[in-house]
Amino acid sequence: MSTNNPFLSAQSQMQTAYAFLAGRYDEQFPKILNPERIIEVNIPVKMDSGEIRNFVGYRAQHNAARGPYKWGIRYHQDVTKDEVKALSTWMSIKCATLDLPLGGGKWGIIVNPKELSERELEQLSRGWVQKLYKYIGPLDDVPAPDVNTNGKIMSWMVDEYSRLVGHWTPGTFTGKPLSIGGSLGRDTATAQGWLYVLEAYLTAKKDTLQGKKIVIQWAGNAGLNMIELIDRTGAILIGTSDSHGGIYDESGLDIAQIVELKKNKKSLTEYKWGKQISNSELLELACDILIPAALENQITGDNAKNVKAHLIMELANGPITPEADTVLFARNIPVIPDILANAWGVTVSYFEQVQNNANYFWSRAEVQEKLKLKMETALAGVLHSAEEHNVMLRTGAYVVAMERILEAMKVRGE
Ligand code: GLU
Repeated sequence: MSTNNPFLSAQSQMQTAYAFLAGRYDEQFPKILNPERIIEVNIPVKMDSGEIRNFVGYRAQHNAARGPYKWGIRYHQDVTKDEVKALSTWMSIKCATLDLPLGGGKWGIIVNPKELSERELEQLSRGWVQKLYKYIGPLDDVPAPDVNTNGKIMSWMVDEYSRLVGHWTPGTFTGKPLSIGGSLGRDTATAQGWLYVLEAYLTAKKDTLQGKKIVIQWAGNAGLNMIELIDRTGAILIGTSDSHGGIYDESGLDIAQIVELKKNKKSLTEYKWGKQISNSELLELACDILIPAALENQITGDNAKNVKAHLIMELANGPITPEADTVLFARNIPVIPDILANAWGVTVSYFEQVQNNANYFWSRAEVQEKLKLKMETALAGVLHSAEEHNVMLRTGAYVVAMERILEAMKVRGE
């Protein structure tokens, strides 16, 4: 199906994978094509100017057959209801691909947080919890950070939730600072999670990162974390971008300079040396590995034919449309899909939730070891499924994940 609507993409991806499960879950399958519940919320905020401004948000709970809804909260000016529905579906699939006992959900608020003062942002975050606290909780529905949200926002939210329910409930939110029940190892996972997946994939293909030319289309923290680690992997960063555009240098970009610019909240347009390029040129650079780490719909039916990378790893959720997937598969360009490549985030969230619920905390080494094992096991399952059905890795992952979800629904009598 030709679509840049992320929710139609998610439905189409499920339909493609169901061909390999057909006849086994015909009563359950139609029920996962749509989220179980969507809530639209208005959050009034008294701005610093004294004006009352209304912010609209969408909350989608996709499926909870395997456990509480687990998901991230996104603050972005371009949020749409269909985007939130898609992201909630991808969370169900992601949790099941990793075999986490969790379902999928998502929350998005239409706001550009950069335009808000800290006080306004706090009021918006607390306002969200006031409107929705009855629908969340450690055994029901557990939010976490996503695009433009972070540990500070989780702290306001867990504080507001605990006040409203009358007792300290850290397990309702994950991605919290360590001082209020966050997990050791989240920082390392955020920096290294992508590397576990990429290295495990290359090892399975009897290859390494040594000398590989990498392009990272990047919008947020995850991309910068990757960039900081690249030197240590033996790979070379030849192109990257921020919201103002891209930079390119075939012989390798100066990572220290990029990190310095971004830590001082400057744009890459101030990067000395190399060449300034557009976002679309960046996606079409000749390289070994292309990593889209920004938003949805970056590689579509229009530009997939121009991609020159030998391998793509999706760090963002949904950067490649189904139409582009078909083109890339036909061109033998493998894609390590988002539901695997960025699943280390939700996996460490799951570990945090388990530790909060047990009120017993693990060492950093324990978290790292458990995460690596989870990622490697999931990758092996996805590679096996893709090979068995002769399909792209995404479809292989969907078959694994959907079988787990649909089996849980069937056993529960749904
Ligand atoms: N927002 C992240 C994602 O899309 C993480 C969600 C979580 O930690 O629960 O996977």
